[in-house]
Amino acid sequence: MALKVDFKQFLDEKGEVLALTEQAKTVFNFLTKIVLSVSENIEQPLIDVDLNCNTRGTELSCEGSIEASCSSINIIEWHCDTCEASGTISNWKGSIWDIQKRTIH
Ligand SMILES: [Zn+2]
Repeated sequence: MALKVDFKQFLDEKGEVLALTEQAKTVFNFLTKIVLSVSENIEQPLIDVDLNCNTRGTELSCEGSIEASCSSINIIEWHCDTCEASGTISNWKGSIWDIQKRTIH
Protein backbone atom coordinates (compact mmCIF):
# COMPACT_ATOMS: atom_id res chain seq x y z
CA MET A 1 0.00 0.00 0.00
CA ALA A 2 1.49 3.30 -1.07
CA LEU A 3 1.91 5.99 1.54
CA LYS A 4 0.90 9.30 0.00
CA VAL A 5 2.08 12.24 2.01
CA ASP A 6 1.57 15.94 1.59
CA PHE A 7 4.48 17.50 3.46
CA LYS A 8 2.29 20.46 4.41
CA GLN A 9 0.28 18.17 6.66
CA PHE A 10 3.22 18.16 9.06
CA LEU A 11 3.90 21.91 9.00
CA ASP A 12 2.21 25.06 10.15
CA GLU A 13 1.88 28.17 7.97
CA LYS A 14 5.41 29.28 8.95
CA GLY A 15 6.87 26.00 7.75
CA GLU A 16 7.58 24.73 11.23
CA VAL A 17 6.82 21.20 12.31
CA LEU A 18 3.56 20.69 14.14
CA ALA A 19 3.39 18.79 17.42
CA LEU A 20 3.37 15.16 16.37
CA THR A 21 2.57 11.88 18.03
CA GLU A 22 5.51 9.49 18.48
CA GLN A 23 4.30 7.39 15.58
CA ALA A 24 3.92 10.41 13.31
CA LYS A 25 7.38 11.63 14.35
CA THR A 26 8.92 8.33 13.31
CA VAL A 27 7.29 8.53 9.90
CA PHE A 28 8.15 12.20 9.54
CA ASN A 29 11.84 11.62 10.33
CA PHE A 30 11.87 8.88 7.71
CA LEU A 31 10.31 11.22 5.13
CA THR A 32 12.62 14.17 5.90
CA LYS A 33 15.65 11.94 5.26
CA ILE A 34 14.23 11.06 1.86
CA VAL A 35 13.61 14.74 1.04
CA LEU A 36 17.14 15.72 2.15
CA SER A 37 18.71 13.00 0.09
CA VAL A 38 16.62 13.64 -3.03
CA SER A 39 17.08 17.41 -2.97
CA GLU A 40 20.84 16.93 -2.53
CA ASN A 41 21.02 14.58 -5.54
CA ILE A 42 18.20 16.01 -7.60
CA GLU A 43 20.04 15.53 -10.91
CA GLN A 44 20.21 11.77 -10.40
CA PRO A 45 17.41 9.68 -11.90
CA LEU A 46 17.38 7.24 -8.98
CA ILE A 47 18.76 8.02 -5.57
CA ASP A 48 19.88 5.49 -2.99
CA VAL A 49 18.70 6.95 0.27
CA ASP A 50 20.82 5.95 3.26
CA LEU A 51 17.78 4.63 5.08
CA ASN A 52 16.43 1.22 6.02
CA CYS A 53 12.80 0.34 5.38
CA ASN A 54 12.20 -0.57 9.04
CA THR A 55 12.86 2.97 10.25
CA ARG A 56 9.34 3.88 9.06
CA GLY A 57 7.86 2.37 12.17
CA THR A 58 8.77 0.58 15.36
CA GLU A 59 7.15 -2.75 14.48
CA LEU A 60 8.73 -3.21 11.07
CA SER A 61 11.45 -5.75 10.40
CA CYS A 62 12.26 -5.20 6.72
CA GLU A 63 15.93 -4.28 6.33
CA GLY A 64 15.63 -3.28 2.70
CA SER A 65 17.03 0.00 1.45
CA ILE A 66 15.01 2.93 0.22
CA GLU A 67 15.37 4.22 -3.32
CA ALA A 68 13.77 7.45 -4.45
CA SER A 69 13.31 9.61 -7.50
CA CYS A 70 11.78 12.97 -8.20
CA SER A 71 9.19 13.36 -10.93
CA SER A 72 8.98 16.35 -13.24
CA ILE A 73 6.11 17.74 -11.19
CA ASN A 74 8.22 17.72 -8.03
CA ILE A 75 6.66 14.71 -6.44
CA ILE A 76 9.14 12.41 -4.76
CA GLU A 77 8.45 8.74 -5.32
CA TRP A 78 10.17 6.23 -3.05
CA HIS A 79 10.13 2.51 -2.65
CA CYS A 80 11.85 -0.23 -0.72
CA ASP A 81 14.19 -2.44 -2.77
CA THR A 82 13.08 -5.51 -0.81
CA CYS A 83 9.39 -5.33 0.11
CA GLU A 84 6.26 -3.71 -1.29
CA ALA A 85 6.60 -0.49 0.72
CA SER A 86 6.37 2.65 -1.39
CA GLY A 87 5.01 6.14 -1.32
CA THR A 88 5.01 9.66 -2.62
CA ILE A 89 5.83 13.00 -1.03
CA SER A 90 4.36 16.24 -2.34
CA ASN A 91 4.78 19.88 -1.28
CA TRP A 92 8.31 19.35 0.02
CA LYS A 93 9.83 22.03 -2.23
CA GLY A 94 10.87 25.12 -0.33
CA SER A 95 10.62 23.39 3.04
CA ILE A 96 13.65 23.59 5.33
CA TRP A 97 14.61 20.07 4.21
CA ASP A 98 14.89 21.15 0.60
CA ILE A 99 18.68 21.47 0.37
CA GLN A 100 18.48 23.15 -3.03
CA LYS A 101 17.04 26.24 -1.40
CA ARG A 102 19.04 26.16 1.78
CA THR A 103 20.71 29.49 2.54
CA ILE A 104 23.44 30.19 5.03
CA HIS A 105 22.44 32.54 7.80
ZN1 LIG B 1 10.92 -2.96 2.92
